[in-house]
Amino acid sequence: SISVVLFTCDLRLHDHPPLRAALDGTEEVVPLFVRDRGVDASGFAVPNRLAFLADCLHDLDAGLRERGGRLVVRSGDLVEEVCKVAAEADADEVHMAADASAHAHRRERRLRRALEGEGVRLHVHDTVSTAVAPGAVAPAGSDHFAVFTPYFRRWSEQRLREPHGAPRAVRVPEGVGSESLPSRADLSGLSEGLAAGGEIAGRKSLATWLRSGVAAYEDRHDDLAGDATSRLSPHLHFGTLSPVELVHRARRAGGPGAEAFVRQLAWRDFHRQVLAARPAAADADYRTQHDRWRSEKAARADVEAWKEGRTGYPVVDAAMRQLRHEGWMHNRGRLLTASFLAKTLYVDWRVGARHFLDLLVDGDVANNQLNWQWMAGTGTDTRPNRVLNPVIQAKRYDPDGAYVRRWVPELAGLEGPSVHEPWKLRGLDRAAFDYPDPIVELYEGLARFKRARGRD
Ligand code: FAD
Repeated sequence: SISVVLFTCDLRLHDHPPLRAALDGTEEVVPLFVRDRGVDASGFAVPNRLAFLADCLHDLDAGLRERGGRLVVRSGDLVEEVCKVAAEADADEVHMAADASAHAHRRERRLRRALEGEGVRLHVHDTVSTAVAPGAVAPAGSDHFAVFTPYFRRWSEQRLREPHGAPRAVRVPEGVGSESLPSRADLSGLSEGLAAGGEIAGRKSLATWLRSGVAAYEDRHDDLAGDATSRLSPHLHFGTLSPVELVHRARRAGGPGAEAFVRQLAWRDFHRQVLAARPAAADADYRTQHDRWRSEKAARADVEAWKEGRTGYPVVDAAMRQLRHEGWMHNRGRLLTASFLAKTLYVDWRVGARHFLDLLVDGDVANNQLNWQWMAGTGTDTRPNRVLNPVIQAKRYDPDGAYVRRWVPELAGLEGPSVHEPWKLRGLDRAAFDYPDPIVELYEGLARFKRARGRD
């Protein structure tokens, strides 16, 4: 018997339950990736993520070849392509990972119907893309947790399945055609400092992180210049690393750093269980409805300045430039740039979320949209009216100003924390720096925010 393993956002050989189930149950397996036309049409397939994806597919194919197999790549309508491949291979079953978004749910339903019509069974596996499956824990009277702390308590009590290694051998039947693998070299418009993708790079980064990074995570995760977070987010997004394996290995490493890191992995699961239960939250306000954002026309110049990193607030500009240059931004930068757009400029969070998704290599519907909602005060934050002051944030999380000087070279001549307030310079001193004045005064932003939210 033969099965198809459909890879989506789980591009790895280690700890891959669908592949394992297929290899356990059938003699031959077709490992398949479909470049989904639906994803392309949604605008989600942007150069930075396509480049990372190309690296991932390359590694996956190479890993399968080392084991006697290969990856089959197709493009088109995902459901049609899976059905075609199942027919070409004469497969009895298809295995794939569960996913949380509305797109993934629709796709799964369509696929199930289409395959059933052909007499092929679809098996959807949990805990491939999350450590704890969405819906596995829920409070009394609801289908999901809306508050993180009680979620985390229950999440921590769950017994995770044991992770497993990569298979030794994979036998792929003859006669199933494949397109050639996409290549990073064919893409243009990539961020210059984009990280390399693929399972090999992911496993190497994980090993380095556990050996020499995680221990200091609790103390240093907010240090903008120190860059002391794991940077594993793109690997988690594309599934080159398994969340179950990560939690196990971090717990084994132990200590407060590892505990704090595991807590962040739980945040990832938290957002996925919210999105799985409320798929509309990818676009619509999750809790509080706000419809008094500034109009796009009124805010256009401010939004452009924000995107290009010339708001006149050095730490905001530094973070926005890091995003453009690397396709990645430090979490503290994401928090303060999102607060600046949604609360100080009072621009609809969807505008910012779209820009992030255009560039982030880890751009992820659940994490991006729900973190944006959290920061905009429309999501799960229990203090929806908190506003981050970029100057206070800068002094706290970039005390020496090194992060700003790294990304805003116009200000590199300013020493220490003075780099955070260039507007305090006067006359010729100020004129020496080719850097804009703030596009908004913070007190004006705050007053606008309070008016719009009906608070005094
Ligand atoms: P680490 O600090 O090393 O954390 C380890 C892992 O935990 C991360 O890789 C990530 O998978 C998870 N994690 C950490 N923080 C969060 C969080 N707040 N919510 C959910 N999961 C978290 N993360 C994405 O993966 N994709 C996105 O598109 C995304 N957009 C964001 C937008 C905004 C406005 C904000 C405030 C946060 C966003 N995040 C997003 C969450 C977080 O900023 C990134 O996951 C983190 O910065 C990635 O860096 P890291 O891998 O070094 O994280």
